[in-house]
Order: sequence, then structure tokens, then C-alpha cells
Amino acid sequence: MKIAFPHMGTLSIAFMGALRNLNVEVVVPHRAAKNSDLLGLKHSPEFVCLPFKLNLGNFIEALNNGADTLVMIGGSGPCRLGYYSVVHEQILQRLGYSFDFIRTDNPDQLKSIVQTMREVSGVHSRIRLVREFYFIMQRLDALDRLDWMAHQTRPYEIERGAVTRLRNTCIELIDQSRNWSELRRVMRAIKQKFQALPQDTSRKIVRIAVLGEIFIVLETVANTHIEEKLGEMGALIERGVTIANWFNERVHYAPWRRNQTKRAKRLAQPYLKNNAGGESLLSVGKTVEYARRGFDGIVHLLPLTCMPELIAQVIMDKISRDYRIPVLHLSFDEHVTEMGYNTRLEAFMDMLQRKKFGRTINRNK
Ligand code: SF4
Repeated sequence: MKIAFPHMGTLSIAFMGALRNLNVEVVVPHRAAKNSDLLGLKHSPEFVCLPFKLNLGNFIEALNNGADTLVMIGGSGPCRLGYYSVVHEQILQRLGYSFDFIRTDNPDQLKSIVQTMREVSGVHSRIRLVREFYFIMQRLDALDRLDWMAHQTRPYEIERGAVTRLRNTCIELIDQSRNWSELRRVMRAIKQKFQALPQDTSRKIVRIAVLGEIFIVLETVANTHIEEKLGEMGALIERGVTIANWFNERVHYAPWRRNQTKRAKRLAQPYLKNNAGGESLLSVGKTVEYARRGFDGIVHLLPLTCMPELIAQVIMDKISRDYRIPVLHLSFDEHVTEMGYNTRLEAFMDMLQRKKFGRTINRNK
């Protein structure tokens, strides 16, 4: 069996380690260089959101490269994501591909995830499967910590691009770790590498929170590397949605950790009482949280036609007025031009720096 699953940020790196331990052969699709290159565009309904098109393109490429089994989450709820695997399956069958489709019907339950791992690997020992699942979670945590270190360091880097290059090298180190003790050793080494990176900590920086639909926030190709660009322009980024928290709030692998959704729900109450699906509640609640924490601005990323985030967008504008915190909404589809968004990011940074320091800051000073 050769399995494939779609990309979402560094999720595939986290899963690959455990799947290798379970002797599962994985076909990893390449990432498109930009949204307009997507293989899935041609066969997707035009109005559907970008994650659907990216996922379909990943599946087509994996099948062309020899995969025979596709894996994806299903589920229910206000967002359309739960139905996507069914529609993908139908489109791919109509295109003439022959394959098996394994879907995690209830990704909110550990039982359902372990069952998927059993189907994929043929391993029956529940203890072994749960242990490998926890290893995946440890790798997700490590990748999130790596991104956190990159966000903290990037605005101070002396050589432009040095943090991004280091991050990419560190992802490979994390990918090579085969068990928890190796992973801990790798993370200690990574921390030292970041500390050793030449930095100018006297720079004036602005703090920006990145919120929005989880796929677009995490998938750097889809969002045209927004976090890297903002960091290199002199912004310290905090990402409000992470895949490790997404899993933890469903399967509680780190029960001592603060539940971000519950906290966001409490903060969102004056504006949004019920979850409108996707990350809408997090986007609204965390806008309030970051405004109270004194952040300088919010960048909100959403796919075009994403109903949950469109609801959040309207409410975030009200919070922006109430708390006097600038919010920049950027919506993504295959027609986005990177140059156009670069101009909007530069204008946003310019405005935040003038608001905070009374002038634009030259990054190299
Ligand atoms: S949250 Fe929005 S973008 Fe994400 S899958 Fe659902 S509808 Fe699509």
C-alpha cells in the first residue's frame, strides 16, 4: 500500500516520522510554487474554497506518482471541509483513477484517528498505535516551537533570509528524528542554533498577530509566505492558530495546556455567541485578546468564499474600531498576485510604524 495525504503547513513532516516507524510507504506530493499552478484547479468547482483545490491537486499528483490509497479527515459541522473527501473521491473516480480512500470520520476523537492509523498500517496493537500517535503530536509541537523561534528572531536578523534558511534546515533535523529522545536532543540543538544567529536586538519592531482559517495560515504556498515577509519587514509575529492546539483541543494529548478555543469563546461573547464554523470563533476571540495584550496590528487570512471567516471578518472590523487596533484582511484564491499583496503588506507596516514610532523604520538601521 502506498498512501498519500494532502499538505497543510508542516503537517506531513509530523506524520511522516510515525508512519515510517509503522513501515507505511508514503508518497509525498510536491508543493505548487504558487496558487495559480495548482493541479486541482482544472477539476474543482470554481466557487469552492482554496483548501479544496490545493488538496485535490495534491491527490492528483500523488496518484500520478504511484499512490494507491488516499487519506483525509471527514467530519461534520458548519464548515464544508467534512464533505470534501467525499467530493474529492467522486471527482478522482470520474477522472479515471483507481484507489482506496480512507477517511477519519470523526477527527475529534482519538479512537477514530487510531482506527485510521490501523487501516493505513495494518498494525493491530492499540498501544503501539497510540504511542506513534503521541509521537506525531510531539513532532507537531516541535514544529510549532520551531516556527515560534523563527517568528521571534526574524525581525532582528542581520542577514536577510538567514532565519528562513535556518528554519528549513531545522525542519529536516526534526524530520530525521525517529523517537522522543532523539527529538528532544534535536530541539536542544535547534534552540542553540537560533541563539547563535547574529541579531540586532536594538531594532524597533511592531508586534502583529496572524489569525484566520487554519489551512491558509499554515500553508505558506497558499498565503504567499506572509509571515516571512512581515518578519523581514520588521514585525514580530505571533500565530494565533496552530495545528498542535487544534489537535490538543480535540484529543487532549497535553491536558495541562490552556484551551485556546474556550478562552477565545469567552472573549468573543460580546460579539459572537455561537461558533460559525472553521476558526471563526478563534479569529474573533483572539482579536480581542491581542488587542488587550497591546499588539500593534492583526493580519487576518481567509480563503475567498470561506463563510466562517467572512462572518469573522465583519465582526473583527467592529472590534478593530472598539479597541483601536488595525486589522488587515487578506483573502486568497488562485487569482491572487503576490506583488499586489506585497504592496498591501508594506502599506500596513508603514501605517503601524508611523502610529507607534511617528515614522517609518528602515529595517537595516
Ligand atoms: S473553514 Fe472555510 S476555507 Fe476552511 S475548509 Fe471550511 S469553508 Fe473552506
